[in-house]
Amino acid sequence: MTILTFDGIEKSYGQTPALRGVSFDVHAGEIFGLLGPNGAGKSTLIRILMDIIRADRGSVRIFGEPRRREHLDRLGYLPEERGLYTKLPVLDVMTYFGALKGLGRHEARRASLAWLDKVQLTHVASWRVDRLSKGMSQKVQIAAVLLTEPDVCVLDEPTTGLDPVNVRLVQDLLLERRRSGLTTILSTHHMNQVEELCDRVALINQGRLVVYGAVNEVRRRHSRPEIRVHSRGPLPPVPEVASVIQEEDGSSRLVLANGAPPADVLSSLVRAGATIDRFEPMLAPMEDIFLHVVREGRS
Ligand code: ADP
Repeated sequence: MTILTFDGIEKSYGQTPALRGVSFDVHAGEIFGLLGPNGAGKSTLIRILMDIIRADRGSVRIFGEPRRREHLDRLGYLPEERGLYTKLPVLDVMTYFGALKGLGRHEARRASLAWLDKVQLTHVASWRVDRLSKGMSQKVQIAAVLLTEPDVCVLDEPTTGLDPVNVRLVQDLLLERRRSGLTTILSTHHMNQVEELCDRVALINQGRLVVYGAVNEVRRRHSRPEIRVHSRGPLPPVPEVASVIQEEDGSSRLVLANGAPPADVLSSLVRAGATIDRFEPMLAPMEDIFLHVVREGRS
């Protein structure tokens, strides 16, 4: 089910076009990857969604309606430029964030404490914000955005600068949101995170949508027709396989003849007497797709 639609969004800053007609949907309950090189137009699109700036043309629909200011209480946003420079105690600042989004004071305080616990920072509740380390401050800000359980949340590079343990912790929070049916838009340059976390993606380049769809589908579409096979004994020749490359780990990489469906290759191999332990169509890494699409756009 669609929860958010960008329809023909155009935006220029003076003579500089930032978005040149971007349209796509985000589905309810998914983790959606918003990708693109620096300057592609991602922040512009997010700022339009959050009503920070206005599109020149096009529309945003959310929760089945044209986006209105009242919807903002149900949206969360962690911008890329972060920093909480204040002497106030952490708990007060978080409570204030919760209250801004419509929680009552008591509820905002309760949620702040619960989320400090989730990010393993209960002990900093009474600290002054400007005493937090960079990583702590980042986790506090993530908690402050998520504590109202926004239906749609945009997180811009939430894990940058965190150690691997905290990266995992933040990723788990996103997966927990997905289990609860909440929608998360993740803007990141970490393609391994996209492969691990995202259901679908939009890749923007020079203000245009250039790749869009389910991560596995996008990877399949950009993959060469190759299959990695672990077998017992050598593989018999079959017509669907153009060539076989032996890998160092004992597996074989099969380069398929034009248009051969992987399922036919598997049944041919089995019919020809092969004993197959593992059979996996090889998917292009998101990183290769990103590099390819962005370089192509420059040429
Ligand atoms: P991204 O978030 O993908 O890095 P942005 O949306 O920040 O991309 O930028 C898209 C384009 O718009 C870039 O060419 C950028 O230089 C330009 N741009 C962004 N913000 C402004 C601004 N406030 N004034 C002028 N140009 C801007």
